[in-house]
Amino acid sequence: MHEFSIALNILEIAESTALQHEAPGISEVEVEVGDAAGVNIEALEFAWESAAGASPLLKQSKLAIHRVPLLFECPRCRHQYSPAELDVICPACGEKDSLLVQGRELKVKSVTLMDP
Ligand SMILES: [Zn+2]
Repeated sequence: MHEFSIALNILEIAESTALQHEAPGISEVEVEVGDAAGVNIEALEFAWESAAGASPLLKQSKLAIHRVPLLFECPRCRHQYSPAELDVICPACGEKDSLLVQGRELKVKSVTLMDP
């Protein structure tokens, strides 16, 4: 389950931020997950709960997941659109080779530390 290694990765980033600032704990971690990142949100939440529960710094933290919708851009007419599915046909001109410009994100957006 690769969501578990993603959760551990997020946890490492959050912990090192807390250590850098000598914070006693972390109250919230915000992550951005694109709809085309290949991440199962429920599996990530589950993995996070078990990983964070074992960390003294993260025991009381909350994981806020922001989904990033798909966004395609047509190489021919530059039209940008957000289809529900991975549909690469431009609705404006019918070009079949649109590029995914947003939706593959997988990153930690912010880490909220507790006051010392
Ligand atoms: Zn187009």
